[in-house]
Amino acid sequence: MKITKITVFQKDLPLAKPYYLSGGRLRFDVLDATFVKIETDEGITGWGEGTPWGHTYIPAHGPGIRAGIETMAPRLIGLDPRALETIEYAMDKELPGHLYAKSAIDLACWDILGQASNMSLTELLGGDRGGGVRIMSSISTGTPQEMLALIDEYRAQGYEGHSVKVGGDYEKDIERIRFLESQRLPGERILYDVNRAWSRREALLVMNAVSDLAVSFEQPCETLEDIAKIRPLTSAPISVDETLVTLQDMTRIAAEGLAEIAGIKINRVGGLTKARRLRDMALAHGIQIYVMATGGSVIADTEASALALSIPEEMRLGGWACQDMLTVDIAEGRGMRSQQGYHYALDAPGLGFQPDEPLLGNAVAVYEAA
Ligand code: MG
Repeated sequence: MKITKITVFQKDLPLAKPYYLSGGRLRFDVLDATFVKIETDEGITGWGEGTPWGHTYIPAHGPGIRAGIETMAPRLIGLDPRALETIEYAMDKELPGHLYAKSAIDLACWDILGQASNMSLTELLGGDRGGGVRIMSSISTGTPQEMLALIDEYRAQGYEGHSVKVGGDYEKDIERIRFLESQRLPGERILYDVNRAWSRREALLVMNAVSDLAVSFEQPCETLEDIAKIRPLTSAPISVDETLVTLQDMTRIAAEGLAEIAGIKINRVGGLTKARRLRDMALAHGIQIYVMATGGSVIADTEASALALSIPEEMRLGGWACQDMLTVDIAEGRGMRSQQGYHYALDAPGLGFQPDEPLLGNAVAVYEAA
């Protein structure tokens, strides 16, 4: 089987509500999504998505994905899309680094492999380990009462997990955490996500001030170095996601005990081919896992939850349904949809569905054999 054509679409995905990170310092209204369609000489077509959470958040840029594809795509025409590591090697050789620019292509190749072998993404990744993926809501920073109101909206949809964004003024963060913990329901899971916003000092002040509450924090500081320095000075479990990009990052996190939770973002790390290695490394070291997209439509959500389902239930902390935060749906009624706050495996080969192509507008680029 050979890749004959790669078609790229750009689509703005508006958020239903403005979204604030880092204590309100960053605001987001719309996501810049890239969809990739890969066609083959055997009539199988695969789809993949790469949607960063805006470009002010981390070094990942919507137009950068399409520029990266422009550089890599001509080298991929003629390769067998089922040979995932061959595709990976070709992309890494043509464009070292820039992993976020590679995920949409990698994911479209997984879709093709699944269709060619009549296996779903979850089956290809090792099988559905049961229990469904607990979907974490994404609660933007506000006053404690505003944040509780958002949590209540998700509770009404069955959500039992919440990724709560903190990382503003540290005294207010302590207030937010104490208040929300006092309102947490039995069995409910809350992850306090700092998105790198605290200094080392602020991280230690907050994490140690709420040590009686037994809560977990995601990405309290900017770098892995920062986390390495605060790790011995607090008892709170730490999750890393923004600084978990490469296999080398995961190796270091595991070997040095920098975090007890791995937040694997399949688009940040370059797709499922690379993400499954991070999964295996985390599992081998007793590190529990969240698997999410960096943002995007039901395609990105389904790709991420397909991997999450392959993780043993006791090691799988949750996933995300960014689709629930958008005003547009590019594949209505298809893909993994929140069922009372959980995602379940699809019984269809590959990704399991396709988007409504006309909703994606005109292709912004087409690459094919000369
Ligand atoms: Mg996070």
